[in-house]
Amino acid sequence: MNVDPHLSIDHLKGVGPKLQQSLERLGIYRYIDLLLHLPQRYQDRTKLTPLGHIRAGDECFVEGRIKQCVVLFGKRRSLKVTIEDETGEVHLRFFHFSRYQQNKLNEAHYVRAYGEFRFFGKELSAAHPQYESFDDPPEPPIPTLTPIYPTTQGLAQGHIRRLQNTLGALPWSQQSGTPFDKLKFLHQPPADTDFSTIDSAREDIAFDELTAFYLVMKGRALRRQQEHATGLPRSAGKGRVLLQNLGFHLTQAQARVVSEVLNDLELAVPMLRLVQGDVGSGKTVVAAFAAIRAAEQNCQTALMAPTELLAEQHFINFQAWLQPLGISTILLTGQLSTSEQRSVLQSIEHGHAKVVIGTHALFQQKVIFNNLVLAIIDEQHRFGVHQRMSLQHKGKDGRQPHQLIMTATPIPRTLTMALYADMAVSVIDELPKGRQPITTHTVEEGNRGSVIDRADVAIESGQQVYWVCTLIDDSDEIDAVSATHSFSALTESLPSRSIGLLHGRMKSQEKIAVMEQFKRGEIQLLVATTVVEVGVDVPNATLMVIENAERLGLAQLHQLRGRVGRGSKASHCFLIFTKGLSEGAKTRLIAMRESQDGFYLAEQDLKLRGPGDILGTRQSGEQNFRIADLGLHAHLMPRVIARGDELLAAPAANLQHAVLNELLNTWAPADSGHLTV
Ligand code: ADP
Ligand code: MG
Repeated sequence: MNVDPHLSIDHLKGVGPKLQQSLERLGIYRYIDLLLHLPQRYQDRTKLTPLGHIRAGDECFVEGRIKQCVVLFGKRRSLKVTIEDETGEVHLRFFHFSRYQQNKLNEAHYVRAYGEFRFFGKELSAAHPQYESFDDPPEPPIPTLTPIYPTTQGLAQGHIRRLQNTLGALPWSQQSGTPFDKLKFLHQPPADTDFSTIDSAREDIAFDELTAFYLVMKGRALRRQQEHATGLPRSAGKGRVLLQNLGFHLTQAQARVVSEVLNDLELAVPMLRLVQGDVGSGKTVVAAFAAIRAAEQNCQTALMAPTELLAEQHFINFQAWLQPLGISTILLTGQLSTSEQRSVLQSIEHGHAKVVIGTHALFQQKVIFNNLVLAIIDEQHRFGVHQRMSLQHKGKDGRQPHQLIMTATPIPRTLTMALYADMAVSVIDELPKGRQPITTHTVEEGNRGSVIDRADVAIESGQQVYWVCTLIDDSDEIDAVSATHSFSALTESLPSRSIGLLHGRMKSQEKIAVMEQFKRGEIQLLVATTVVEVGVDVPNATLMVIENAERLGLAQLHQLRGRVGRGSKASHCFLIFTKGLSEGAKTRLIAMRESQDGFYLAEQDLKLRGPGDILGTRQSGEQNFRIADLGLHAHLMPRVIARGDELLAAPAANLQHAVLNELLNTWAPADSGHLTV
């Protein structure tokens, strides 16, 4: 009988309730999860180094007779074990040891140890080596590399190894196309295996995993084709009126994306389209055209933003664009009074409000739409996939809303192919004409005075300034300049200027009021936290100052900087940093100074942090590959897609289908049961 890889791990010999808990902390629930828990590196314990050949700094595997075992009372109490063979002698040192350990080493005659050797005084010694003691000369070492596993507190390496051995000895299915052989190899590579062989085995498994993921995403896309949505045909031409009212021409890229979106909306199949465009490329207005199309059919649109400030900015823009067309927009935030909220909810339920703008407050059960046909999600990397999905059920008569997803995160193409295989992707790859480049400077905080002078000059010539801080208030734990501190310091330095303060703890109404004053130019310098990261749009602002820039990631710095350079005047960005930068921070600041290209910066970010962080998926738990590392394996995607499509095209009855099911079952996340295409 073959073993079912989906058996719960507590069926495995040696796994009791306590061990089970530790394993679960590592994401190991079933046999297959343990099998997929691969070593992060290996130690070569296949060859013993003769004691006389060891040099200081060597990390090696040794064996010897125990010559002496003594407790030393020096500056620190320690246990010293001297071992010898025909070639020489060395020492093992323990500064923490138990009575049990001491007795056992005292009684034993041989020891085998793995560790790094250094001189302690004149004696070549390994401190706290991994070791095993024996009464009789031990058997020759096992001929495979020793795996080192990612582990968690209370779970020893030896423990995981023993479990892997138990598991490896079970009668696994020999079906072709299964990754089991490769997995077994990776758990116990033979002594002379070189690392390129290991890497390529890992790559093969990553290939399978990515293929399974691709199939699932494709499967979703196919299932969506079976769902129903409200088709939104062309009609009254209110979009054309907006075009005339806008005061600018759409860029070619915007026009192309608008028509891609509107074409999708005409179909009675739910749209799922990702609009990617760098900061300032003008995504909001694209969304407005989609909302108009829905309103023309007397249907509703929900527009969801990740922050209240951004929701408020969208509300102001949409009102300005849509009110002249007779389309009503409403703002739903968490900060309305009970009676205000009641009337907003009623207006949504009765269908008076055609465009509903808000934060995740829109998800709440009590928000009932009259006829929701379109959900627009802005800056989607801030949301989890589950949040996004929850709007999907707010449609009417079993119809799903179309989904339009907007992101400024410029995702490298290979990643898009992998992670968004279920979506159509549009790219706004052009900035509106007349945008001025932004010159970026890095400034050590001792020179802050010169930046204040620059701000003063800019204000004198009628321009405006953002001054961004990473904290609201001073903090004992974090050594960074706070917004409240900067506000009073700048008010003192620039007494004749009008200075405002904006942060996330303020009430919605206060924030709107401050933003309005800044837009009208009544506030000349706005001290803010990173709440201004997204969506804030004041073309007259030409100076962006960021305090403690070393604390922020590249994506966030790029977003913040994108708040300036929106008008016709040249803009500057000052990144103020504290001395003693880490290598990573240095690299980020230099990248910012060198480039204004979101794609380039995203690639740098990818190198620095790995894809999980970039896509924001790590936080939201959207996608964590077990083996595949998109930083290493993204180049596999074209082949993954080819193989995935080939499997999907295969008739259900043939062997391919069995391979496919095996693939999917292997890679199904622990909590979702079996996957199907
Ligand atoms: P993002 O893509 O970052 O969301 P926005 O939609 O906020 O960008 O647009 C940034 C600014 O550019 C807004 O003031 C918007 O009105 C303006 N804008 C958008 N499209 C154009 C265009 N084609 N020409 C000039 N300005 C534009
Ligand atoms: Mg935007």
